[in-house]
Amino acid sequence: MTDLPAIPVFRPLLPPADAVAAYLRQADAARFYTNRGPLVRQLEQRLAAALGLPGHAVRTASSGTAAIEVAILAHAGPARADRPLALIPGYTFAATALAAERCGYVPHFVDVDPDSWAVDPAALADHPLLARTGLILPVAPFGRMPDMAALARLSRDTGIPVVLDAAASFEQVLDTPALVTAEVPMALSFHATKTFSTGEGGAILWLDAAGQDRAVQVANFGFRLSRECRIAGTNAKMSEYHAAVGLAMLDGFADRRAAYARVAAAWRALSAGLALPGRLFTAPEVSSAYVLLWAEDETAFLTLESACTAARIETRRWYEAGLQDQPHFAHLGRDAMAGTRAVGGRLLGLPMACDLTEEAIATVLTTLHRAAASLPPARAAG
Ligand SMILES: *Cc1c(COP(=O)(O)O)cnc(C)c1O
Repeated sequence: MTDLPAIPVFRPLLPPADAVAAYLRQADAARFYTNRGPLVRQLEQRLAAALGLPGHAVRTASSGTAAIEVAILAHAGPARADRPLALIPGYTFAATALAAERCGYVPHFVDVDPDSWAVDPAALADHPLLARTGLILPVAPFGRMPDMAALARLSRDTGIPVVLDAAASFEQVLDTPALVTAEVPMALSFHATKTFSTGEGGAILWLDAAGQDRAVQVANFGFRLSRECRIAGTNAKMSEYHAAVGLAMLDGFADRRAAYARVAAAWRALSAGLALPGRLFTAPEVSSAYVLLWAEDETAFLTLESACTAARIETRRWYEAGLQDQPHFAHLGRDAMAGTRAVGGRLLGLPMACDLTEEAIATVLTTLHRAAASLPPARAAG
């Protein structure tokens, strides 16, 4: 007896073992298993080439969370006593704030804009805590990219380093490589739930060559050209085994993206005629790994969510109601969180996978549509 959902919210699919094996044999032949071996270097070069960026623009890490930590230490350094705070949106995954904490910062949660689900860079420009802030750590939620020029301006105007958690933004960067800058390093995740995956893994995208050298140093115990620890570091190196998965993933990425695009198109086509109490977000507005329903209000959200649960369709409140309400972070400072709570209470993660069938999508949509019919009719007029 199991309680497995009939339709899971996400089903990862990584390259098959045979495709990875060809690369693993290279590692065997080279007897190189980690420490920036040939496969990691090859993966970084091929990713940079795919983006049309110089080779140094991509540096891998052992996870997306590690990539955030490395980018913080390489760009802002560890927290200093006079500037202990990191401004972080409430609406994000736990990893964002945990990474800042690991670098010594005390998160202070700022609100997000309900339309972009992200912090408005202009709203942070005169934040009352800037004088005690050593790091600004915005997020590209579900891959939706913020205005990078505005973030660079925020950093210039305040003198405070900005690092972007762009964990789910691989496709956005692939389509618009100009998003990668020298001023705002970005951290990507290659977790199994992300569109481009190495199982566990991540990368720092940054045009600052000296900064990327520091990132490599941070990721390897603060060593540089010796075994002497010279700066705050950690072990955040991607192994050759994970790089092998990434190289196989890259070989098949065009097909994978096309498969995702077909599923996203099916979501749009099958929902087109339906009066749903909300708006559907699919790729390319968000990462291919997500289909999100922005419910028209919290009542609709709760009604649709419980209808899915009853039909054994798994949904997800990806970031819950915001980090400020989660036990580990509940004691920390925060601004008014109305936007964060509104997004948390209205954005419903629906099932997605690169091989999700039209039948499954139709089942979910029928369930949503029937549940919507049970909502009070007056709302249709509004
Ligand atoms: C996936 C994700 C992370 C964490 O990445 P890992 O590779 O799992 O460490 C961090 N932030 C956001 C916004 C994410 O979506």
